[in-house]
Amino acid sequence: MKIDTELNASAPAVLERANTASLIELAGVTKTYRTGDLAVEVLHGIDLALYPGEFVAIVGASGSGKSTLMNILGCLDRPTTGSYRFMGEDVSSFGRDELARLRREAFGFVFQSYNLIGGATATQNVEIPAIYAGTAPAKRRERAEALLRTLGLADRLEHKPNQLSGGQQQRVSIARALMNGGQIILADEPTGALDSRSGVEVMALLNELSRKGHTVIVITHSQEVAQHAHRVIEIRDGVIVSDPGPGARAGGPIAERPHGHDTRSPLGALVEAAKAAGRALRSNLFRTALTLLGIVIGVGSVIAMLAVGDGAKQAVVDRISGMGTNLLLIRPVAGNRGGMGGSIATMTPDDAEAIAAVPNVLAAVPELGGNVTARFGNMDYQTQATSTSAEFPLARNWPVARGIFFSRADVRSYAPVVVLGTTVVSNLFPDGSDPIGRHVVLNNVLFQVIGVMGDRGASPQGADQDDVVFVPYTTGGLRLFGQRFLRNITVAVDDVARIDETQDAVSKLLEVRHRTADFQIRNMASLLETATATQNTLTILLGSIAAISLLVGGIGVMNIMLVNVTERTREIGVRMATGARMRDIMQQFLTEAMAVSALGGLIGVAGGLGAAALIGALGTPVKFSIFPVALAFGCAFATGLIFGYMPARKAAGLDPVVALASE
Ligand code: ADP
Ligand code: MG
Repeated sequence: MKIDTELNASAPAVLERANTASLIELAGVTKTYRTGDLAVEVLHGIDLALYPGEFVAIVGASGSGKSTLMNILGCLDRPTTGSYRFMGEDVSSFGRDELARLRREAFGFVFQSYNLIGGATATQNVEIPAIYAGTAPAKRRERAEALLRTLGLADRLEHKPNQLSGGQQQRVSIARALMNGGQIILADEPTGALDSRSGVEVMALLNELSRKGHTVIVITHSQEVAQHAHRVIEIRDGVIVSDPGPGARAGGPIAERPHGHDTRSPLGALVEAAKAAGRALRSNLFRTALTLLGIVIGVGSVIAMLAVGDGAKQAVVDRISGMGTNLLLIRPVAGNRGGMGGSIATMTPDDAEAIAAVPNVLAAVPELGGNVTARFGNMDYQTQATSTSAEFPLARNWPVARGIFFSRADVRSYAPVVVLGTTVVSNLFPDGSDPIGRHVVLNNVLFQVIGVMGDRGASPQGADQDDVVFVPYTTGGLRLFGQRFLRNITVAVDDVARIDETQDAVSKLLEVRHRTADFQIRNMASLLETATATQNTLTILLGSIAAISLLVGGIGVMNIMLVNVTERTREIGVRMATGARMRDIMQQFLTEAMAVSALGGLIGVAGGLGAAALIGALGTPVKFSIFPVALAFGCAFATGLIFGYMPARKAAGLDPVVALASE
């Protein structure tokens, strides 16, 4: 036939040239597999020279070492001993990524089981080697489609592997082998899984490639398939038993030496990794959703918990500062003249008057109090009475809402007047009638209502501050409590900047007056500090509980990524065979983990804010701030990075041969 004449005509000249320009040269190559203590030598000193443009078949019985040889030829595996020269260069010193570069630029693999990536379309599968070579997306796609068209798959571009016949899948895998040029096509039993007609088609295709100048190496157990090749090398039990030497077209177009520099932009690589991650995550939506859920709950709870914690803190701070930050609170403490509980008999209204004369003191308000029964008509109500001075509304920054507060004159004259808190008003006057001017009875003493205080709400401790009535301390001391010792004195200072100085002065004055420090004096600023510290502890507690759930979510991500790596070991092998570097694989799985975490983080942020808003709507104070949101999202992202790292490293560290051989 035509091929024969060609062969006869050109062989001698080619041989001469081929001797000087072998493409691949193996010398004394052995391969020993070690499993545990057992070492089995599978190849026993292979010497083999392959020349550009050859169409070679390596034929032998099953188990004779053909695949082992092919893996070595294709730089997927290294010889145990012996040398491998690729275009004259010894590759035994090459690192993993350098071997990956050789595979990417020089080799194209065709496998018995096609090894297409399940979730990707025909075009996407063909594009893979070009991704690792850094070809621009548009160019890559164009070439992939052109190759598929040439191979008769014009109407199957967007089909997934499981929508294609075996013969079609094998053609897709041939297109993939050609994507980066496919100078050398290595086909391991390419027809092994095909019916005879498809098998013949595939061999014809390989023949044609060889005619176009590709070096084609087919590995087969079938003499019949081997006959398609121009040089049939027979291997038996790891030894080459026959080799006719360089055959037809050897020395055809001299291959271009792989250039070897990396043309990819890091950003492009990242975009590719993100796309692959998206595809992988979409291919198992339910699993992705469950993994997401862990992160969503983690991030959401961190945000909601911190919002609640911060809200509680803010509420306390608001209430305390609402009382005024210019206040000093003086309480008697049990001294040598100590009494019982809250009524320690040391401080008197005279102390308050003396304090009022200290510089920078705006007002010093005495307070004594106790339980009283308030009665109006047939309504009875248990409440607190506070006996105080006319300056109370000023010092406490708590004005009356209606009527008036009692005056200094009222205090001096022991006037039986009362100012009611709103809670007391609503209990004594449930019909909403105006209490001002009415008379109420407090502990059997008649008082005239002259005012109603403004609404104050709950105290920092949660008590209702409006459940109170105010009477002049003179009247209260004499007629309600029968004693004039104070519960506390509230001092309002004029200039807050000098509050410490004033506090010292007041403290000294009282010590002199009492001849002992039988009181405690605190300013609102320090009270605020204490309360804030308490609330911070609470927030940290809530936050750490939430952080634990984020950690659990992260472990979920790691778990699923490990499963992913295991499940897709074969895919990793394919990617490595097509030239993926370690970091490409690493990046792919890390990106996947981070995509899950980041997406979970985003949904979690939305969910957490929503939950916090709901809690807020139900009446619990919440406070939104950017910090917890950034923190939680950042944590989710970091979780992906940290927990994705181990699986990704595991994937990247896989041996290409082992990965390809996995189920
Ligand atoms: P062929 O492709 O010719 O059928 P292989 O190269 O796959 O043969 O295998 C050759 C021999 O090496 C076989 O006996 C096989 O059991 C053994 N072998 C192949 N791969 C491994 C491995 N990873 N570990 C241990 N033994 C292996
Ligand atoms: Mg085999």
